[in-house]
Amino acid sequence: MSTLPPSIQNLVDHFTTLPGIGPKTAEKLVFFLLRRAPKDLHDFGGALSHLADNVQLCSRCQNFTDQDPCEICSNPRRDQTTICVVADPLDLLALEATHNFRGVYHVLGHNINPLEGITPNDIRIRELIQRIEKPDPNTREIILALDANNEGETTALYLARLLKKYPIALTRIGKGLPMGSDMEYADSVTLSNALEGRREI
Ligand SMILES: [Zn+2]
Repeated sequence: MSTLPPSIQNLVDHFTTLPGIGPKTAEKLVFFLLRRAPKDLHDFGGALSHLADNVQLCSRCQNFTDQDPCEICSNPRRDQTTICVVADPLDLLALEATHNFRGVYHVLGHNINPLEGITPNDIRIRELIQRIEKPDPNTREIILALDANNEGETTALYLARLLKKYPIALTRIGKGLPMGSDMEYADSVTLSNALEGRREI
């Protein structure tokens, strides 16, 4: 039986749903918040509500955005004919941090992962196909920027087979990425080199 007041226990329970946060850490965080000014707490809560109310998926690239299409997709200086496919929005952030990619993205949301029951139907492959089947803008290159691990490999092979029939250059970055590594943890120089050294598959 918890000895915490229900209001505090309630927030502790919410924190424990986050990755890497156990009950002890959750309690620490909540007691830390309790020392903040009430206005700060309202702002914190408001930021969470704002996420729920205002963040949506971009109808083109499927990344999280406040506006649809997102800033990258609606930027006339980005090359709309080159689509870089990533599994996760954090991978997109890592690639943007290189300042070395002028194309646009497609966020699958996940890698294919049979062990976790994530099949091709569970990730945004359908949306990618719809994009490249549209004549305007005409997609010229698809870059697979997927993690250098089993799941990334499975996803890349699946997409390579699926996309073969389209008259599009299909490339993959990976050279220079340490095997077993997550894209989001690769540093900018490594990612930049991997992007420039991409190979046709
Ligand atoms: Zn977008």
